[in-house]
Amino acid sequence: GNGILVVGAGQAGFQAAASLREAGFAGPLTLIGEEAQPPYQRPPLSKAYLAGKTDARGLLLRPESFFAEYAITHRRARATRIDRGTSRVRLEDGASLAYDHLILATGTRNRALPVPGAELSGVHGLRSLDEADALKGALERAHTIVVVGAGFIGLEFAAVCAARGLSVTVIEATPRVMARAVAPETSAAFRDFHEAAGVTIRFGAGVSAIEGADGRVASVTLADGENLPADLVLVGIGVVPNQELAAEAGLPVRDGIEVDPFLATIDPAISAIGDCARFPTRFAAGLPGGDRVRIESVQNAVDQGRCLAARLTGRPAAYDAVPWFWSDQGPRKLQIAGLGGPDDASVLRRAGGGFSVFRFRDGRLSAVESVDRPADHMAARRIIAAGRSLTPEQAADPAFDLKALAT
Ligand code: FAD
Repeated sequence: GNGILVVGAGQAGFQAAASLREAGFAGPLTLIGEEAQPPYQRPPLSKAYLAGKTDARGLLLRPESFFAEYAITHRRARATRIDRGTSRVRLEDGASLAYDHLILATGTRNRALPVPGAELSGVHGLRSLDEADALKGALERAHTIVVVGAGFIGLEFAAVCAARGLSVTVIEATPRVMARAVAPETSAAFRDFHEAAGVTIRFGAGVSAIEGADGRVASVTLADGENLPADLVLVGIGVVPNQELAAEAGLPVRDGIEVDPFLATIDPAISAIGDCARFPTRFAAGLPGGDRVRIESVQNAVDQGRCLAARLTGRPAAYDAVPWFWSDQGPRKLQIAGLGGPDDASVLRRAGGGFSVFRFRDGRLSAVESVDRPADHMAARRIIAAGRSLTPEQAADPAFDLKALAT
């Protein structure tokens, strides 16, 4: 046979390939990726790698020898077209590869800031290792930093800058940090953490232009006309899924490549996993957007890669893993289990040095956001996976035994 082609050599594509071999898949297996490096982890790019605590080798998911050992062909090229009629993928170098099954694991790309000056030198994004290297170099010379967007990446970066004693201002359009992802209580705590570390955060603020001198960034103008000096700007305003390959091949897309509970597209020979895939899940029940979601996390990429590899080697199962996520911001560790929604109720549980926010939707536990409470997080993952719940009163009671509920 023609074997399995994976487009996208990131966390999800790599995992699918590795799990296919571990499950005994013996046919041809090719991982197509446009990046120069072997598959690597992105989370440290905005944390340990940027802070100089790990090097590029430390980011690799496996040593380069792994690919030869497991007979996985890593082809460095961009895939430009899927021809479903002939079951082939065309690469930008002109090659055309045939598949029996095609896995789309194309991830996302940075959302561009739609203002004049966004292309100036000194304005950065942070998604790839190449971008992290550019940013790391720029940080050596920077004094005054503006971060656009108080999401996970913007805040992790701001914390690294503040720890180096650099001046950093974060511009955020909404009234709170990480507004799309966490409860108001968690936002408030992280606002305090960052401000105490010396980060300035400007809420309800928009960027209208970036100005330069000699082609290099010099300042950022806000929507209200205020001008902030800057010699380095990081734009962290979210991502968009890489779904064009799928869309042009006639596969349904809507903020992600649409897949069924088994991660298959409407074409049984094509599946999609990781950041680029939109899938149904019980954990999203009751969310305003419906029960289909696209999740940007290592957990989701890894578990979907494994789930798909199992199906393709004869052990089909619907994808049903509990979503979980982490973000390290300075010395604080945020961990999230489940999927909270914007209208979910919140209950605060304080114990020891940290706290957890328990979220409830339609009277049931939907998510738990833990700050420096890894035991709460681990218990929450198991409670939510099992479909169990607790009352808001129990959640707030530090004497209530979460671990017992989890087992
Ligand atoms: P990606 O890892 O983005 O891989 C997709 C790959 O496909 C890319 O290499 C891309 O270049 C390639 N590609 C796309 N189109 C084509 C094409 N046509 N041809 C060839 N190749 C193509 N998650 C957490 O859970 N915790 C964290 O703390 C955390 N921190 C993060 C920090 C940063 C700076 C970033 C960027 C992400 C972070 N994430 C974190 C998210 C996590 O890294 C992603 O969810 C994960 O990488 C998704 O894996 P993926 O394989 O779906 O996509």
